[in-house]
Amino acid sequence: MKFAKVVIDEDAKAIDKEFEYKFEDEADVKLGERVFVPFGTRVLQGFVVGISDKSTYDETKIKSIISTVDGFPVIKKEMLCLMDYMVEKLHLKRASILRLFLPSEMRTGKVKELIVRYCSLKENFEYPSKNAKKQLDIVKYLQEKGREKFSVLSQEFGYSSLSSLVKKGTILISREEEKRQIDYDKISGEKKNLTPLQIRAVETISKSKTYLLHGVTGSGKTEVYMNLIDKALKNGKTALMLVPEISLTPQVLANFKARFGEAVALIHSGLSSGERFDEWRRIFFGEARVVVGARSAIFTPLENIGIIIIDEEHEQSYISESNPRYDTHDIALFRRKFNDSILVLGSATPSIDSYAKALDGEYTLVEMPVRVNGMEMPKIMIVNMMEELRHGNSEIFSIPLLAELGNVVERKKQAMIFINRRGFSSFQRCRECGYVAKCRDCDVSLVYHRYENKLKCHYCGKRYKALDICPSCGSHNIKQGAVGTERVVEELKKFFPDVTIFRMDNDTTSTKGAHRSILSQFREVKPAILVGTQMIAKGHDFEDVVLVGIIDADQSLYQADYRSIERTFQLITQVSGRAGRSKDQGKVILQTYSPRHYVYRFAQNYDFKGFFKKEANLRKVTNFPPYTRVLRILFSYEDENVVAKEIKVCYNKVQKVKEKYPDDFVYLDVMKSPLNRIKTKYRYQILMRFKLEKADEIEKEIYECVDEKCKSSVFYEINPNNLS
Ligand code: ADP
Ligand code: ZN
Ligand code: ZN
Repeated sequence: MKFAKVVIDEDAKAIDKEFEYKFEDEADVKLGERVFVPFGTRVLQGFVVGISDKSTYDETKIKSIISTVDGFPVIKKEMLCLMDYMVEKLHLKRASILRLFLPSEMRTGKVKELIVRYCSLKENFEYPSKNAKKQLDIVKYLQEKGREKFSVLSQEFGYSSLSSLVKKGTILISREEEKRQIDYDKISGEKKNLTPLQIRAVETISKSKTYLLHGVTGSGKTEVYMNLIDKALKNGKTALMLVPEISLTPQVLANFKARFGEAVALIHSGLSSGERFDEWRRIFFGEARVVVGARSAIFTPLENIGIIIIDEEHEQSYISESNPRYDTHDIALFRRKFNDSILVLGSATPSIDSYAKALDGEYTLVEMPVRVNGMEMPKIMIVNMMEELRHGNSEIFSIPLLAELGNVVERKKQAMIFINRRGFSSFQRCRECGYVAKCRDCDVSLVYHRYENKLKCHYCGKRYKALDICPSCGSHNIKQGAVGTERVVEELKKFFPDVTIFRMDNDTTSTKGAHRSILSQFREVKPAILVGTQMIAKGHDFEDVVLVGIIDADQSLYQADYRSIERTFQLITQVSGRAGRSKDQGKVILQTYSPRHYVYRFAQNYDFKGFFKKEANLRKVTNFPPYTRVLRILFSYEDENVVAKEIKVCYNKVQKVKEKYPDDFVYLDVMKSPLNRIKTKYRYQILMRFKLEKADEIEKEIYECVDEKCKSSVFYEINPNNLS
């Protein structure tokens, strides 16, 4: 008799533990296997996360495992360790973690292997009669080819002829599994001769530790990644490369397929569930040795990892903001350690957090400060939109932008217009002097809540009257909200009726393959203008794009978040990097209502280091990460009275912790969440910031403050991206 620790595959707090079941030795249940177990009066699925010879309870009371689900362990050892780590470090529920490790298709059992029917001739078969011409053709075909798919023959020669041959027994059918093929553009993947900077990077990145690769846009980071992956494969290892979902362009995939062929597996949300299922299994069984994918690919069951790469490491999309909440960096660091492999964080604009770690020596900094083609970075021209307004132009486009667009059209080149829009929160701004309302306590911009007509601080929850008159200059000309892509396209058409204009945003890319189709169409047309959101900001390499226009650059600057300035810098640099990637020097027109903000000065000069210094200093002075830790505990429940009561109990305990560490806490408060009610659930949160020295210790005590048995769902987040 043996005993298994089983995590029940139900996302419920009450049963988030390891239950014991027994099985006979012969039943041969393995660690990491999925099993059916009796649970109360039901039969549920669970994961075996531990096996031992002894039980911790009365053996006779322990129930038996009913059967296994897959017949092999679907969760490998490393992932079981990762689960323990995520439970301990991120306070997530076991089942919700384990679910990350499997394609959901597998759990629901909705997708199966793709089975294909093959036809072949029976030995000593009888020839069809001379009149059955089609049947003779089929036989002849199979004599030549040996075998063929049923579907192909049926299409070629007709279903009825084929099926009568099958009925007569002339043709035998065999069933085989076939992996679904993912569509990609085929290009030649010839190796490039590396530049001296690229060679140095590839040579430097060689030890099993973490590197921060800071390379300007167009410095050829992708080529460096591919050479590093090559090295890993040659050493008999595997490679995992993560890219942000939106920059997982057809181009990236085509490049990797061309270089590494069948060894590449792809994981992203655009795959059909069947494709995802097949790719996952190719990875699981070791057929795929290079995985390219978006965030969730960090959980793929790749073994013997030699290198993990996170491209555009500063991207927000690496943080999962819905349950289960996690930061891909943490998972990558865990897997790096477990596999004793290399981790590369690459970006033209590293996050303040990662760069600070590089300066501290925690990561090793590798720099590529110039473009491969030796071209200068595109010139960024800052246009003061208030100036435009004073001269009577209240349109979306400034005069300089229109003039440059005209220029592009005349030269039969291409332009991109980037609209900085994210989320539905917006700030209020004076159109005369550029004033933006900020919180008195938090130094972040206030968010306008239309329904209540109030301004609110998303950090501390404080509310302010909405502006109707500007406190700075007395003007009534107050504006809120932002223009959308649709509106920009309409306006552009008025000025350039004969030019092809493409639009790329959430609306136009919701269908499968739309993303790819828009980009490949754009590539073919000159002159042309591509209007888009964040989606066009990165990863694309179009030779003929010589102009980039940025509308409303301020939109991300005034989001209620201590990282909003950092994000604005990153966006401008990334978008600008789309211009002038080939022979022609690129140009960028940046439209803003806050032309004197320091972020634009640094961005204009491509001065990342200068920006880092200024921004890091500000964070230090104002006690924000990476110099403190932000912790949010979010409670949500249908009954508002219950959430309010339960969070109060927790808050009182947290206050006790604060009393114990009076010098470490720099902030603590409890409040309604800015998005107070989502999907019928009321949301309240405790926000705190504390210094780093004793952060781990404090964090542990904070987690103890939450009553396990409370009715509310409770989420923890460290340094959250978004406080709504
Ligand atoms: P990054 O990711 O750093 O912005 P990319 O990897 O997209 O830069 O490279 C920019 C361009 O330079 C691409 O078109 C790429 O094919 C090309 N490139 C990269 N390395 C070389 C090289 N060694 N020789 C010639 N072209 C290169
Ligand atoms: Zn505030
Ligand atoms: Zn004003």
